[in-house]
Amino acid sequence: MNDSEATFFGHPRGLATLFFTEMFERFTYYGMRALLTLFLSAAVATGGFGMSEQEAGAIYGIYTGAVYLFCVPGGWIADRILGQRHAVWYGGILIAVGNCILAIPSGHDLFYLGLMVIVLGVGLLKPNISAVVGALYKDQPGYRRDAGFSLFYMGINLGAFIAPLIAGTVGEKVGYRFGFLAAGLAMVIGLVQFRLTGRYLGGAGLEPQMHGAEKTRNIRLALAGLAILVAAAVAAYFGLIRLTPSGLAWQLLIVMAGIAVVVFGGVLFFGGLDAAEKKRIGVIFVFFVCAALFWAGFEQAGSTFNFFARDYTDRSWLGSWFEDGQHPASWYQSVQPIFVILLSPVFTWVWVALGRRNLDPSAPLKFGLGLIQLGLGMGVMAIAAALVVSSHGKVMPTWLMLTYLVHTTGELCLSPVGLSNVTKLSPPRFVGQMMGTWFLGAAIGNTVAGLVGGEVGGGSAEAMPGQFMRMLFIGGGAGVLVLLLSPLLRRMMGGIR
Ligand code: GLN
Repeated sequence: MNDSEATFFGHPRGLATLFFTEMFERFTYYGMRALLTLFLSAAVATGGFGMSEQEAGAIYGIYTGAVYLFCVPGGWIADRILGQRHAVWYGGILIAVGNCILAIPSGHDLFYLGLMVIVLGVGLLKPNISAVVGALYKDQPGYRRDAGFSLFYMGINLGAFIAPLIAGTVGEKVGYRFGFLAAGLAMVIGLVQFRLTGRYLGGAGLEPQMHGAEKTRNIRLALAGLAILVAAAVAAYFGLIRLTPSGLAWQLLIVMAGIAVVVFGGVLFFGGLDAAEKKRIGVIFVFFVCAALFWAGFEQAGSTFNFFARDYTDRSWLGSWFEDGQHPASWYQSVQPIFVILLSPVFTWVWVALGRRNLDPSAPLKFGLGLIQLGLGMGVMAIAAALVVSSHGKVMPTWLMLTYLVHTTGELCLSPVGLSNVTKLSPPRFVGQMMGTWFLGAAIGNTVAGLVGGEVGGGSAEAMPGQFMRMLFIGGGAGVLVLLLSPLLRRMMGGIR
């Protein structure tokens, strides 16, 4: 069998290359993320930075938001300058370097530098690896592409599942810095694997979409952007711009909303698109708004729910393994990914079975369902929080796990569907850039999740039930609205399924 005929669970063999690269990258990302808020808020004597929950939540929000925000320039640079595959490679190198910087026991400055390097790296890697997945299915029917993305999504979650158990445990029980190092090493393995098996990708994502004078102009623009970034970082370092974590998180949100307007406006009005293409971009915009809302709730996994695990969850199961009689709070970060791995095949099977009867829900319908489930999960948390208040104690881990279960079924209705549909709906010239906007939704959501997490985690237990109820109404209400809009959105998709 030659390289082009080899397959991976019935899919192109190249999918395995991307599956494992992304698995290791997500190991790095989620391993580090499981520790981030715990590390920042841990006392200096225990190796942390001794910050308040509000500050830790805001930094979590800025970092995770920035990671996804940089997917926008990352997609742009790949489309116009590097090509997606090179972007993945250089992004991976930056991620590995950044995590190794975090592992160096030092003060705040070096730590923030490490975070910045990771942000640039994920920005280059994350949108583009998904775009290469899309490219593998260039001439294949939509349902094959969806199935490919579901498999790819399992790779993401395999990494996310193992990472907190390994890097989280090492970090919480041996030392935070060792946890960051463990996370960084995973990316190195991922890079080696990507290099060794790159040939299976054929020509997918190898060449940028733009050449000649256009490319030269784009290189200049990218360098100018980088110069502005470096200048801002230097100014912040020397105290010329005064930054507080929560102030910066709010500013970042405004910048991100502005970027969304510029990117969508630019493609719609100056992208030379016909009417049908413009309508599809309109659908991507609605998906983007839904994604922002969904992730704002869901990504509290690393903030609000991480603090809830630490402070209000009975962690005595297997506690005897550990000196303090408690299993690590970061273990709960593995719950959602394992649910994704277990439930993905069920979801794929249900979509295919419904598809055969022509009953497959449209992408907008799935988005509405996803948001409703997000709201329901918040309802579960409201009950758990009320129990914490009434018992003045800790609750069973099952509450957090039930919330994670409902959030995960919501995620499976929205996230892989979004990835796949963005690659289907966007004109080929702009696919990296549109993938970037999908992650811009995640950026906004993550920043909000950090801010909310700081509020909830740093507030009183008595305030929690009301806070979760508000999240229930926002998520559920938005979901119902999208369900009502779904016939219109389907028409705007113009026959793309
Ligand atoms: N869990 C998914 C991933 O890591 C989705 C994250 C997101 O888009 N917010 O890719």
